[in-house]
Amino acid sequence: MKVLKFGGSSVADATCISRVLDIVEAAAAGDRVVLVLSAIKGCTDALIEAGRLPAGERDRALAPMYLRHRDIIDRLFTGDQARDAIEEVCALLDAAAAEPDGDTCQTYGELLSTRIVDRKLTLEGNRTAWLDSRELIVRDNPDESYARICKAVESRPDVKIFVAPGFVASDASGRVCTLGRGGSDLSAALYAAALDAESLQIWTDVPGVMTTNPREVPAARTIEAMSYDLAFRMAENGAKVLYAPTVLPARKAGIDITILDTFHPDGGSTVISAGAGAPGGAFSGICRMGGKLYLAAEGGIDTAWEEAACLRTLERAGIEGKVLEAAGDHILLEVPEGNATLALKALHMEFFEKESNTVEIYLAGFGAVGSALCELLESNAERIEAQSGARFVLKAVARHESEDDALMEALMKPGSARKVFVDCTNSKTIYHYYIPVLEAGVDIVSSNRRALAVPYAEYASIKAAALRSGAALRYETTVGTSLPMLGPLATAASGGDRIRSLEAVVSCTLNRIFSSGEDFCAALKKAHAEGLTEKDPRTDLGGVDALRKLLILSREAGIPLDADDVEIKPVLPEEYFEGSVEEFYRRLEAAAPKFGTDLRFVASLVADPAAPKGYKAFIGVRAVGPDHPARTITGTDNAIIMYSDFHTSPLVIRGSGEGARGAAASVLHDILR
Ligand code: ADP
Ligand code: ASP
Ligand code: MG
Repeated sequence: MKVLKFGGSSVADATCISRVLDIVEAAAAGDRVVLVLSAIKGCTDALIEAGRLPAGERDRALAPMYLRHRDIIDRLFTGDQARDAIEEVCALLDAAAAEPDGDTCQTYGELLSTRIVDRKLTLEGNRTAWLDSRELIVRDNPDESYARICKAVESRPDVKIFVAPGFVASDASGRVCTLGRGGSDLSAALYAAALDAESLQIWTDVPGVMTTNPREVPAARTIEAMSYDLAFRMAENGAKVLYAPTVLPARKAGIDITILDTFHPDGGSTVISAGAGAPGGAFSGICRMGGKLYLAAEGGIDTAWEEAACLRTLERAGIEGKVLEAAGDHILLEVPEGNATLALKALHMEFFEKESNTVEIYLAGFGAVGSALCELLESNAERIEAQSGARFVLKAVARHESEDDALMEALMKPGSARKVFVDCTNSKTIYHYYIPVLEAGVDIVSSNRRALAVPYAEYASIKAAALRSGAALRYETTVGTSLPMLGPLATAASGGDRIRSLEAVVSCTLNRIFSSGEDFCAALKKAHAEGLTEKDPRTDLGGVDALRKLLILSREAGIPLDADDVEIKPVLPEEYFEGSVEEFYRRLEAAAPKFGTDLRFVASLVADPAAPKGYKAFIGVRAVGPDHPARTITGTDNAIIMYSDFHTSPLVIRGSGEGARGAAASVLHDILR
């Protein structure tokens, strides 16, 4: 069994009705059909108006309805058939006019439309029967309604097309009543649930549930699939295309609701079902009721982020608005009613018309850099958009390693927007995701130097994956933080320049201690207290971090350096590296090493034809003469000093390299490039 419901616009005149007949007859070719109809367009309103008049004055008010139904009959029937149909219309309108309770007048619109269509279908040779929904549907009593509907249908196995008026029913005491304005949709769902229909189709004058009301915003688009829950919430909040209570019997019976356009059957449709619709995290549509705007999502939206985006959009449109509710599946805004359409247009433009220009950010790591990045994205949203022409949306954040898998799952879901995976962790293992992410065409921006300082072979496969897929892999922040150190090296490599030597002063902790001239132990403790060192300060002293930076720098310059190729001389002799941090400090206090202010902790690379990769690499403390560019590097500054065939006078990049905000700015720059 199929249930097809057509709304008032779909049966507005004879031309529309002919179209409906074609659709119904095609559906009935393969299955039995219940056809539920609304009153012809405007008829219910006219009947309600007439019902407010004293019985004696209703005739005149109903005259235009007589003419419209008569016109339909004149175009669909001839001779006796036309005469009989007109007689029936007259009788129904007379009965409406004579109703003792004016409120009951409105129940006649659906009787008029269905009687005419039933006659026409019969005339065309279909085996039809008219069902009296007033007797079959008991308002607020679905079980009783189902029993009556089943009985009525089972008693007529010969019938192919049942024609039933929507909207009308009876109440518990048996009096005729309605299911509420727009209630024909619910009538159809009740017939469908009663008969366990395989299909419930709501035919109307728009191609499905759309991103917003297309009469207000012509750019609205069809939402192809959505959950019952979303459909219910959208309908409750102003998407008149579906009467909200319709969802409940359909959901209970597990019947999908399809919404289609009578006038453009192939122009798009919406399927409402138990399965989720669009992936969570984005708005599906915007509904409006008066001055209240409901931005609806399946779920998973970043409330604070989207709330700020809504308010920014309204502000830009010069509309004062406030947030009434914000939850994971919706935001409810209020604006002055006079500005509501304008607000709807602005919000629709922001969330639905710019989609191709949306860049989705999936962030792993919410430490100092990750959180500073989120702040930057939010506080600079307008400038970023003006500069890049794109809207950057933080789609998902993994705050802990345990959330990485979920982040990846969200990231890998198909979608049309450009995506960027941002790695602000210091994880040793997260780089395993890099290749699949790049292969999925997703760009990667990383501040995680561990991910790029992996063995050369793995580094090379990551690079190759980026090359193959065309996705970007950027990690300028991994060395020198906010200083642009990698760019010039890559330029040199691609320009055929040959590096003669590269010296990198990239450990701001050690650099500060050496250049200060203070007592080594006291200076180290101070740096430790200020959070400038790793938890165990020996990690910095051992040169591991400097090694990672040197590997990344060299590889950027085209030199396939691996950890084994680098000779590391820790700042302190081996025995200092044994035991706890406390023991380490005790040992340091007992036998404090002395370092002159001419010393710097340098990672260097020197061309050496005898070395296996053509370069000798060394990390350790070195004395630098008064003319050496590194000598003037003090405090927490970082620097690289490069001599090459082209740079016979050294290329020096130096400056303050630390701070989460600087790092976040550098990550953002990589995202925007
Ligand atoms: P019918 O007479 O077929 O039941 P309705 O007038 O009840 O049709 O519902 C269809 C109307 O709903 C459309 O013409 C459209 O103006 C309005 N509408 C409001 N919001 C939406 C939306 N989000 N998507 C589609 N249509 C909507
Ligand atoms: N004709 C009724 C109304 O206008 C019912 C419907 O169209 O669904 O409200
Ligand atoms: Mg409707």
